[in-house]
Amino acid sequence: MNCQEYREWFRKREILSSEGIVSEAYLHAKTCKECSVMNKIDTDIENKFRKELYMREVPDGLLNRIELNIKSIYNVKKRTSVPRLKHGGTSLWKTAAPAFAVAAMVLLFISYNFAYFRSVEEVGRLSVESHMENLPMMFKAEEVKDISLWFRERLSFPVSIPEIGESGLKLVGGRKCKLGRNEVAYLFYKKGDKRISLYVIDTKKIKYEMEDNKKYHLPFKECEVDIWKSGDMVYSLVR
Ligand SMILES: [Zn+2]
Repeated sequence: MNCQEYREWFRKREILSSEGIVSEAYLHAKTCKECSVMNKIDTDIENKFRKELYMREVPDGLLNRIELNIKSIYNVKKRTSVPRLKHGGTSLWKTAAPAFAVAAMVLLFISYNFAYFRSVEEVGRLSVESHMENLPMMFKAEEVKDISLWFRERLSFPVSIPEIGESGLKLVGGRKCKLGRNEVAYLFYKKGDKRISLYVIDTKKIKYEMEDNKKYHLPFKECEVDIWKSGDMVYSLVR
């Protein structure tokens, strides 16, 4: 693998993740200084991101912080770097490295942002969007004896179905679906003629503070959403 191929791979590394190509890429990064520096910047950024932005809202001054992070990484590199080519090398590095860093950070930021729920509003908005899609059921309530088991065989987290003590509310069926990038359990209820949707989310996918058993009520478009957390589950009820 040469530098160009390495960079091509680097940009698409989430998709191109087969063992062969990954070990080829690592081999190249090991032997190529420029590419390994790029790799290092990416790892540093990733670590900084994990440390600084975990469980927090996206701050307003994020772009400034990205710039500062790049500057600080660049300064560290400058202090510790070994002598390099007098011509071309330095200026290429000066312009290319921050550009790579920004690109890597933006990509990382985008994928991080979609992989988790970052606010109660986001859960509400995605639930309402899914509710309005009118997705078909994958099973009817009377056809499945153990609904938790049905989900356990299809989702990566154990689903517990809440006791919703509301008179006239009837469970009619369910399916799995996606809210953003996350797979969730989706239960269909009816109250009279009204269609009500319940989404069951793994709390590991929630990256904001949520009090146990506190109900968050949000109006969205023509819907009302109740969101609450109970143990390992976060529930979002759309009506
Ligand atoms: Zn290279």
